[in-house]
Amino acid sequence: MNQTPLAIGQTAILSRDGLQALIDGLIERRYRVIGPTVRDGAIVYDDIAGVQDLPAGWTDRQAPGSYRLERRDDQALFGYAVGPQSWKRFLHPPLELLFTAHLGQAGMTIEGGEGSEEGSGEAPQAPERFAFVGVRACELHAIAIQDRVFQEGAYVDQGYASRRAGTFIVALNCGTAGGTCFCASMQTGPKADAGFDLALTELHPWPEESGTPDAAGGDFLVEVGSEAGAALLGQVPHGPPSDAQLAAARAIVARTAGQMGRTMHTDGIKALLQDNPGHPRWAEVADRCLSCGNCTMVCPTCFCTTVEDHSDLAGASAQRVRRWDSCFTLDFSYIHGGSVRHTTQARYRQWLTHKLANWIDQFGTSGCVGCGRCITWCPVGIDITEEIDALRGAAEPAQRSSDGDPHGGT
Ligand code: SF4
Ligand code: SF4
Repeated sequence: MNQTPLAIGQTAILSRDGLQALIDGLIERRYRVIGPTVRDGAIVYDDIAGVQDLPAGWTDRQAPGSYRLERRDDQALFGYAVGPQSWKRFLHPPLELLFTAHLGQAGMTIEGGEGSEEGSGEAPQAPERFAFVGVRACELHAIAIQDRVFQEGAYVDQGYASRRAGTFIVALNCGTAGGTCFCASMQTGPKADAGFDLALTELHPWPEESGTPDAAGGDFLVEVGSEAGAALLGQVPHGPPSDAQLAAARAIVARTAGQMGRTMHTDGIKALLQDNPGHPRWAEVADRCLSCGNCTMVCPTCFCTTVEDHSDLAGASAQRVRRWDSCFTLDFSYIHGGSVRHTTQARYRQWLTHKLANWIDQFGTSGCVGCGRCITWCPVGIDITEEIDALRGAAEPAQRSSDGDPHGGT
């Protein structure tokens, strides 16, 4: 074992104790370390203090409208796919205080946010510095997509940008694909290719290779993705990988790619959606869709919000907050006089068409990374890969909608 700093792209072997030392190093650097934990029968991202908080020996079974945890026959720390949460809840929180307005003798003062008044006496709050441990390849792509939305366009979201700038990412190359995963067909996984400081592959033998699952769990192959990652890794015990360990890591990723529960057929998908606003499939899926918005809440790329003002009863202070919203709500498209999309059909079509087609026009990328959450957490099991196949099966020529959406799904 040695602590020689590695260059970006180089790899090393990290033991489970080494992973603990890495987490200790992040805590010493005053990061708030977030990782997968088990809570309420699901894998959720929460504060972790060490390896003991990770979901050792758990895996998940996912299907449309179905999710459950099961025990594995080993003690793998990352032997499951993604849960209902994504990292967006930390970088783009569900509820964010924009500012508070106080009414006093001298008039109104603003506290917090970009509208903060100089000399208000309030010390500016330093943004939390997050360290995310166990970020999947699809989730790295989702973070990159939200970066485009929030900080790479004409208007920068200062809150997002400040949180994002301080974030340290320990990625994870997936060793297990969920039943609703389809990242391989979206070219977003299962191997992390960019956007991380360090990337782990959990090396635990499986029967095809070793004949004997390793009950204790194994080492990690760690790849350096940034100078910050190299500096941290240089302070924890690590060693050079053997050829067999490098080959095992490649085999794990290849095996995961072959396990995908779903495939998204993306050929011509933009034209398919934009040219078929009147396809009968929209009405069929709308008959099942509850307009509950679950799919948008769990999606790691959906970013829509609404802004609300709340005042106290005395009228002395008021808060402006931003909270997640969903294009599935009737009020989301309310303009003067009514909602633009007043049917579930119009709202479902809007979501799918924006996500998989119009997003490409807006941001140069699909809005879907193939994580499968919207399929798993849809209470009626609507599957977007199935919906695309259905639209593709009997695509109709372009026509305008007659269901009340004057924009024809755009
Ligand atoms: S649309 Fe569904 S599969 Fe695609 S990124 Fe969002 S939640 Fe994941
Ligand atoms: S597609 Fe499913 S999760 Fe999304 S709004 Fe409809 S019922 Fe809810």
